[in-house]
Amino acid sequence: MPDAPIRTRFAPSPTGRLHLGNLRIAVFNALFARRHGGQFVLRVEDTDTDRNLDGSVEGILEDLAWAGLVPDEGPGIGGAYGPYVQSLRAPDHGAAAMRLLQEGAAYRCFCTPEELEAAREAQRSRGSGSRSEPAAGSGIEPGPMSGPGCPGGCRDAHPDEADERARGGEPHTVRFRTPDSAIRVEDAIRGEVRFEGRDVGDFVLLRADGRATYNLAVVVDDAHMEISHVIRGDGHLSNTPKHLLLFRALGAPEPVFAHLPVVLSPEGGRLSKRSGSPGVDVLRRDGHLPRAVVNYLSLLGWSPGGDRELLEFRELVEEIDLERTGASPTTWDPAKLRWMTTEHLRRLSGEELARDVEPFLRRAGVTVPPARLLPSVERVRPRLELLSDAPEELRHLWPGVEVLRGGWEEVAGDGDDARRAIQVIRKALSSFEPWDSASLGQEVRRVGGEAGFRGRSLFHPLRLALSGRRSGPDLGDVLEGIGRDEALRRLSGPPEGPEEDITGGGRV
Ligand code: GLU
Repeated sequence: MPDAPIRTRFAPSPTGRLHLGNLRIAVFNALFARRHGGQFVLRVEDTDTDRNLDGSVEGILEDLAWAGLVPDEGPGIGGAYGPYVQSLRAPDHGAAAMRLLQEGAAYRCFCTPEELEAAREAQRSRGSGSRSEPAAGSGIEPGPMSGPGCPGGCRDAHPDEADERARGGEPHTVRFRTPDSAIRVEDAIRGEVRFEGRDVGDFVLLRADGRATYNLAVVVDDAHMEISHVIRGDGHLSNTPKHLLLFRALGAPEPVFAHLPVVLSPEGGRLSKRSGSPGVDVLRRDGHLPRAVVNYLSLLGWSPGGDRELLEFRELVEEIDLERTGASPTTWDPAKLRWMTTEHLRRLSGEELARDVEPFLRRAGVTVPPARLLPSVERVRPRLELLSDAPEELRHLWPGVEVLRGGWEEVAGDGDDARRAIQVIRKALSSFEPWDSASLGQEVRRVGGEAGFRGRSLFHPLRLALSGRRSGPDLGDVLEGIGRDEALRRLSGPPEGPEEDITGGGRV
């Protein structure tokens, strides 16, 4: 662990909302920074301008906030290492490239796209040979180490000559002069990974239009932001030797690199947005708990040891580490995430659960009087797997005035006996104690029986009056769930007035 303060970063491209796959990267970076009292930085990598989507930055911030992973620094947040949007850092990228040119660590490459394509083609037809030869008859001599990069002699051209051509406006890229030696990446998860310089090749730093490539921008930005730990997906491992070379060439301290194992989709193959990685907005809409999602994602690679799986955010922060993060592929398992949400839901306090289900109720138009929300939610908690199950469960307790009116219409059609059964029970319940499901069920049966109502003749009208429906949960449960006042009100006749009056003023 370096002595410098721990600073991690999450560096998504602004190509839309976060999804499970890239949220996992954020989870590891955020938890790791928290664990070490460090900073978690959000940097938006928008240099691939074609794929950028407007509004993505706001969406990313919202998704992170939902997951409880609010960055310490980032766009819209601020910090001492900004700007945090990569395109705004273009002057720094350009300056770094110029410095590398001046020091001879980079060179200008004037090969045309056609020449590069011909060289690639030749390389392909030879198999995966690492040294690329220029196309036959192109008149270009291969450099001593042309690699998969520049196929021409640009590497060995005199810098003054190259500068002269550049001043004349000749299109060119700037390439890094990769040494022909082994590059060892010391990965915190995988251990040592060795790359050959000739396989890495002379990679591009600045494109012909002057924009920095990802490889240059990411290193300049990580160095500027004093990132201590680069924790990212294993898809970036092959870029890491380039990054190491650049850190060294720029004289910047090397961060610790940690490449998280690949996540496979249930069908196999790398999980991606396209292969079914659900968006954070979808997980949210489906009624997953953020704490369950974060817990689940932390286990895609890491293990707290033993057979523990359910961890609160606080426990994750106390325990997350890179030592117990493995390199083997993991698989996205929707059923497991669902299970985790259910388990975390059981552990929420009543207040937390009520707060979390409230937006789902509102969206579904289920109106619960504020005073009854907490007990009602507690009532249905054992039946909830996802937050989104709450409206359906609570709809039986709080069906809305229209449904209750419909129930009473049916009662009226059933004749005097149905009404009488309801009246008998209403009277008995006006002072009945204790108001719990089991006792209430017994009392209804006893009082009904004494008045000559049993089975359907008793329960059918009661259920219609209480819930507006012909079927639903146990009547004792409904009575306990809605409370005495509401029960007596419903048993007294069809609701009068609009919903607001019934639910005690104002929508919930
Ligand atoms: N912007 C890169 C991506 O979205 C991440 C780069 C990095 O973590 O180094 O894959």
